[in-house]
Amino acid sequence: MLSAASDSHSMTPASPRYLVAFHPKRVPHHFVDVLIIGGGIAGLRAALATDPRLSVLVVTKDELKQSNSQYAQGGIAGVIDPADRFEDHVTDTLKAGGALCDRAVVEMVVREAPRRICELIEWGTHFDQQQGHLQLGREGGHSRHRVVHALGDATGKEIIRATIHRVRQLPHVAIWENTFTLDLLTHDGLCRGALVADESSGRSAIWAKQTILCTGGVGQIYRETTNPDVATGDGHALAYRAGAELRDMEFMQFHPTVLYIAGSSRSLITEAMRGEGAHLVDRTGYRFMPDYDERAELAPRDVVTRAIVMQMAKTRHPSVYLDVTRLDADVVRERFPGIAQTCSEFGIDITKDQIPVRPGAHYMIGGVTVDQIGRSTLPRLWAAGEVSSSGLHGANRLASNSLLEGLVYGAHSGEHASAAALEMADDFRAEPLENPPRDADGEPLDLADIRNSLKSLMWRFAGVERTQDRLTEARASIEHWCRYVLSRQFDAPEGWELQNMLTVAQMVIAAALARQESRGVHLRTDFPKTDDEHWQRHLAVPAAI
Ligand SMILES: Cc1cc2nc3c(=O)[nH]c(=O)nc-3n(C[C@H](O)[C@H](O)[C@H](O)COP(=O)(O)OP(=O)(O)OC[C@H]3O[C@@H](n4cnc5c(N)ncnc54)[C@H](O)[C@@H]3O)c2cc1C
Repeated sequence: MLSAASDSHSMTPASPRYLVAFHPKRVPHHFVDVLIIGGGIAGLRAALATDPRLSVLVVTKDELKQSNSQYAQGGIAGVIDPADRFEDHVTDTLKAGGALCDRAVVEMVVREAPRRICELIEWGTHFDQQQGHLQLGREGGHSRHRVVHALGDATGKEIIRATIHRVRQLPHVAIWENTFTLDLLTHDGLCRGALVADESSGRSAIWAKQTILCTGGVGQIYRETTNPDVATGDGHALAYRAGAELRDMEFMQFHPTVLYIAGSSRSLITEAMRGEGAHLVDRTGYRFMPDYDERAELAPRDVVTRAIVMQMAKTRHPSVYLDVTRLDADVVRERFPGIAQTCSEFGIDITKDQIPVRPGAHYMIGGVTVDQIGRSTLPRLWAAGEVSSSGLHGANRLASNSLLEGLVYGAHSGEHASAAALEMADDFRAEPLENPPRDADGEPLDLADIRNSLKSLMWRFAGVERTQDRLTEARASIEHWCRYVLSRQFDAPEGWELQNMLTVAQMVIAAALARQESRGVHLRTDFPKTDDEHWQRHLAVPAAI
């Protein structure tokens, strides 16, 4: 059971409780039983778990298809092969997690995995098969082949297609796309729904008996990232403003192999490719991973990421290379059609040429603290998926465990939020909440310029390698920007996202400064050792960052 949270965090004058002004007499009001914010794997799975007697609303800030889930490549981990064992999946997860995983959570999620994967199949997901059986891939940190995948390397696209289709058949679930959630509404220490905005109807209040936050990740705060544009950390920031506890924000996982071609999007090159036998080589063609770890290319992500950063520095080159040229060309094309296509657009034939790669921000391990059923510390607020911190990943997420976490916690939060909502009587009253308008002062701001500066600063000073001096310098710059960006009021997502990104960046830097050790994905070159005596614990984001 988690401790109760305060009504909201103590904000400085520069960072008000709500992003925009509103008055209950001037906004339309909607009433639902369960509000789900986000339509990736966690939000959709939560919707599928809701009770059909309830009225449920899913809101997404872009089209429903735009989410981290849609772009997932490698697959979902689960013990499917009869020769595999739950104990092994548990051990692999704990080993990767840097002694910070919650063992009970790991056991629960791992044991539920086969059931959650079977549900997806029942709902029409076509996972790749081989001779009538699910084809199982192997990824870094896994001791066995246990990753189900679809369309070769486009697993997310297929599971989201099938899940959206299923959710659309539910008459009790409505979906509002292109609806930006600005803030959670809180009253008397309870979450009461959310304030949302869309282009046609402006701002409205959605009053909900229970609210489930499934807003995904924060990768956009970094210049180099695998995450799509929607991943600006809105959910992390709005939960923080509402007073929910967040923790472990220093643990940003960097994916070791992101395509690095000037002018291309930063496509992720799935680690399933290393699982299939790809080698990492430097500019001279030297295979360097065995120098850094006996597991070579199959070492966990943090180990591979660090090795790449060090090898890039050693060879003074902006990338290293993935080499699959010694594998069977037909197998490569069949198993990795998406990557083969993307690379071919830049004149790279992956069956003959090496693929330039470098690390990029990939997955936020930290987030809203939740218990095993997805309950946050703010009563009536639940969270699932990447926005949450369940204790599954510890200090380093094992590959293909995050879609799984979204499925398990989406299902739990949907079921339990439904049960809680069914116990509550209808109450069609708006609370007397309001937020006064702020002065529309000063020069218009070049929001794109600040956004780019923030992303670049985070990449250089709070990226893979961190030190006290560089983090302190980054904190000072961000505090300076916050002073004139957070105090303003904006009318469109561009401004709201920037405000949220600044808030999330502050959280990441505060946590990275506080944790004076290296653990999992958090590498402090000034504290290179893991210090269990002082730091084998979670770090809650302080009330004032
Ligand atoms: C390129 C890539 C490949 C990956 N490959 C794998 C893999 O193979 N296996 C694996 O396990 N994991 C993988 N991951 C990680 C995994 O995809 C994500 O962690 C997971 O999909 C997150 O799901 P989610 O439902 O929590 O969030 P998302 O899928 O990101 O969904 C977030 C939702 O929240 C909505 N939202 C956000 N902000 C707001 C707002 N202000 N108002 C309204 N709505 C909002 C968005 O519109 C979206 O609908 C990959 C990630 C990436 C980026």
